[in-house]
Amino acid sequence: MTTPLDILSVEPDRPVFPLFITAHPDDETIQTGGLLAWLHDAEVSTHVLTCTRGELGESMPGVLPATVQREDLVRVRNSELTRALAELGVAEHDYLGTAPARANGYTPRYYVDSGMRATNGGYVPIDPTNPVSFSNSSMDDMLDDLLALVERASPSVLVSYHSIPGEGHPDHITAHQLSIMAAERTGLPLVEVVRKGTDPSFTWFDFPAQREPVIRALNCYRSQLQVEGDFLSRVNGHLTALPLHLGMRRWIT
Ligand SMILES: [Zn+2]
Repeated sequence: MTTPLDILSVEPDRPVFPLFITAHPDDETIQTGGLLAWLHDAEVSTHVLTCTRGELGESMPGVLPATVQREDLVRVRNSELTRALAELGVAEHDYLGTAPARANGYTPRYYVDSGMRATNGGYVPIDPTNPVSFSNSSMDDMLDDLLALVERASPSVLVSYHSIPGEGHPDHITAHQLSIMAAERTGLPLVEVVRKGTDPSFTWFDFPAQREPVIRALNCYRSQLQVEGDFLSRVNGHLTALPLHLGMRRWIT
């Protein structure tokens, strides 16, 4: 039977050590929580990179004071992330722009959440001219930061979203593009993951045995979501399935 390790393995003798490249605190859980928990149960060490602090994530009503400042939200989301990673058994975590995910000689920095605004043609950053937003920053600088982390952490494979420009959050698309650039520069394989659909070019997996840790991890994100039975609800009222079903495929140049 095919398992996620068949998609993630590079060479039979090399231990699998995936680096998950994500945009916001909570993406690792909402997008790939089942897979991360499954890998932990399979005794595979994992590393998660979060590219922004999620400064523009809208909060669930009543969880945080209405007057919450951006710095407070960053602290809350970092705390939520830390606890969720522990529930999923993630071994290593870094933020892009902070050592070791910062290129040598560069001053540490935040890549700021771009936020998302729907338009007729898809989605655009809330402030397309913000020079420090993740989706508006120099791809070369961000690639330097990611390559610094890859050199230090030595993952065997990169994992990121499957993302189609215009169809999702600008930061998810940027993380996807950055992952492709890193795969091309390092020669590491890149595995794309997707939560929805039936695209036969992906191999689909279910993670029923990981339901409890995934729900515990989701419950760490009280500011962002609420678990309701087999679904999670976001501030926009949309219900999505628990991340216990995932498609994976190798990205091919
Ligand atoms: Zn996100």
